[in-house]
Formats: sequence, structure tokens, C-alpha cells
Amino acid sequence: MVVEPKVKGFICTTAHPTGCEKNVSEQIDYVKKQGKISGAKNVLVIGASTGYGLASRITAAFGMGAATIGVLFDKEASGKRTATPGFYNTRAFEGAAAREGLYAKSVNGDAFSVEIKQQVIQMIKEDLGKVDMVVYSLASPRRTTANGTTYVSSLKTVGESFTQKNWNLRDNTITDATIPSASEEEIAATVKVMGGEDWIDWMDALVEADAIEENAITIAYSYIGPKLTYPIYHEGTIGRAKKHLTESACAIARKQKALGIKAYVSVNKALVTQASSAIPVVPLYLSLLYRVMKEKGIHEGCIEQMYRLYKDKIFGADGVTVETDGMLHVDDWEMREDVQTEVMKLWEQIDSSNLLKLADTEGYWEDFYRMFGFRVDGVDYSLDVEV
Ligand code: NAD
Repeated sequence: MVVEPKVKGFICTTAHPTGCEKNVSEQIDYVKKQGKISGAKNVLVIGASTGYGLASRITAAFGMGAATIGVLFDKEASGKRTATPGFYNTRAFEGAAAREGLYAKSVNGDAFSVEIKQQVIQMIKEDLGKVDMVVYSLASPRRTTANGTTYVSSLKTVGESFTQKNWNLRDNTITDATIPSASEEEIAATVKVMGGEDWIDWMDALVEADAIEENAITIAYSYIGPKLTYPIYHEGTIGRAKKHLTESACAIARKQKALGIKAYVSVNKALVTQASSAIPVVPLYLSLLYRVMKEKGIHEGCIEQMYRLYKDKIFGADGVTVETDGMLHVDDWEMREDVQTEVMKLWEQIDSSNLLKLADTEGYWEDFYRMFGFRVDGVDYSLDVEV
């Protein structure tokens, strides 16, 4: 069938298989053009089908030559419904890996569940023996724990409600959005979903099954961002969860000390992904950030970020280069003083009348549509495709 984008708010309910495939092959080409990384050999990526997890997997496979197992939660096509982008991305990734003789298998299911953990561990033991790197890149709105309780995360403030400029994606106006404050229960639920508890469970399960090497590395991703978004992000419910994730890195390193396992959190740049476009205020910040970083020639996407992280900050000549806060930072260019000063200057000026002039709204939408395989150069969208 001919597949067209069907956008509803911050989500697109269709995905284009050829466009997704091309996205993946462009990311692979980018990595192949850079130098090889002498890094891990057998890598497990949890949350491997889109955004930072997919870029991590591509970097591991095509940058390090690693065998990869990816865990994802994506829908296959059914009837007239296309599959989700992660499904097409994963199929494209596996095909490209196979053509280069790289081992790549994926498990499509709920990474929070005990069953999927067991299935993945069995695959590791049968096919690879052990993994020497685990990337934890889940972004999920909910989590069901082993006792059957489902927790739902919230994007709210902690303490007082917060009012800030917001870009209404439907009509390109700027109005104030008020983000309400979360209840204690909502804060706790967000920590349950996006904190580090499940990361610790994965590491415990891998160690218990003897499926992880001595001195293995594990990494999870976080975001801090500018003071402007602190109430909704860094100091909000999601920030609480990220704080827990960071504490979990210490907990993992402590627990698995005997094996010498190292656990890190990398603070990444703000980018348009399915997770970030759902956060109020953030799309406007992103479109101003894109403009400033592009003008300065330092804009990066997920793949550039992940390649730089692995090449320079984890497997570089100086080893793992954590900053004084104990974390790795590839948000360093986003947080540069000159970048932030310009973004904040634009933020002060922006309103409905100058939005299209001051912000890189096109860049935002380009990334948004590309996530679903649309607006990708060289793809003929008038053709019938097998979904
Ligand atoms: P994303 O939505 O693009 O990717 C999430 C991945 O998790 C997908 O592969 C999805 O299939 C998988 N997933 C979700 N629920 C799952 C489940 N129950 N079981 C198995 N797989 C599941 O998100 P992203 O933006 O790449 O985020 C990844 C991490 O990076 C998050 O921790 C996020 O906070 C962090 N981060 C994102 C940004 C940003 O701007 N996007 C910036 C810094 C850090």
C-alpha cells in the first residue's frame, strides 16, 4: 500500500518501511565513515529500536564490530496498520548486519518482564556465551512489575506548578502552558518506570546466570538541560527518576564489585525522539537549540552523539572520562555558554508572530517525520510498499 504520515499531536500513527530502512542505512554509513572503535565485543542493548538505543547498537556493530542482541517493544503490521518504526528499523539493522557477517538478534517484548530477561539471557548463553557491555536505553510510559502492578510515569513538576512558553504544534502559536505538580504517588510511579530499578534487575539477572564478563561495562542515558526546563525536567518527576538512575549506577558498581563491572550514566543532548516530543515546553526549546547549534556547525543527531560517546568518552585513549559529577557528558556542546546564551536570548523574544523566523521549526519537523520514515531523501512515497 501507499503509506502516508498520520500525525496526531506528538505522535505519528504510521511508519514507512523504506524510509525507516534508509534512516538506518544512513546512520550505518555515518559510523562506517568514521574510524573504528576498539571497544566491546558482545553488546546487549535494551531499548534498541529507535533513538539513542538504536544509535548505540549501530555504533557497537558497525563501529566496534560487536555482536549485538537488541531488546525492543514494537508492533508488527496488521491489516492496514503499519508496524511501528522500531520494527522496521530493527529489520533493516539486522539485514545490514547480516550482510557484513555481524551477529545480530533481537527480542521483541517487554524488557521489564522476568520472561523477556530469561529469554535474552538464554540467547546470550547459547549464542555468545557472555556479554561485555550492556546499554540500558529504555524510554517507556509504563512498567508492569513481577507482582502484576502497573506503574505509569508522569511528566509533571515536583512542588509548585510551572508556567512557561509552549509551542502549539497544531497551529504554530506560542501560548503559556502550565504543567501541574505531581502527587507523591505520581513521583514514586515515575521513578518506578524511568528510574534504575529495572536496570539493577537486568544486571543481577545477567550476573546470576553467569552471562556477563568480568570488567564488563554498563551504561544508561540521562538528560539535565538548561535551568529553563528544570521545573519540567531536571527537577520534575522525570528528573527524580533520572536521579534514581544515577544512584543505580553506583548501586550496580557496588553490588557487582567482585566481577569488576563498571556502571555509568551518560548525559546526552536534547533531541527529537518519540520520548522527548511528548514533553511540554521541550519542543520549543529544541527548535531554538537546533537553530543555534546548526548555525555554529555543532548540531548532532543520535548517531553523532553515540559515536562520539563511545569513541572519545568510553573507549578513547584516556579510558572512561567521567566529569566531576561522576557522569559522562555528550551534552557538553548543548550546554556551552555561548550556545545557551543565544538560545535564552531567542527564548525571551519568541512569540506567535516570529516563531517561524526565530526557531528551526522545520528542523524539528524534519526530525519528527524522519523518526517515522517520512521526508527521507531518495524515497519515492508514491510507490506501493509491503508493510
Ligand atoms: P526512544 O523512545 O526513541 O527509544 C526507546 C526504546 O525503548 C525503543 O527501542 C523502544 O522499543 C524501547 N522500549 C520502550 N519500552 C519498552 C519495553 N517495555 N520493553 C522493551 N523495550 C522498550 O527514546 P530515546 O529518546 O532514545 O530515550 C532513550 C534514553 O535516552 C532514555 O533514558 C532517555 O531519557 C534518554 N535521553 C533522551 C534524550 C532525548 O532528548 N531524546 C536526551 C538525553 C537522554
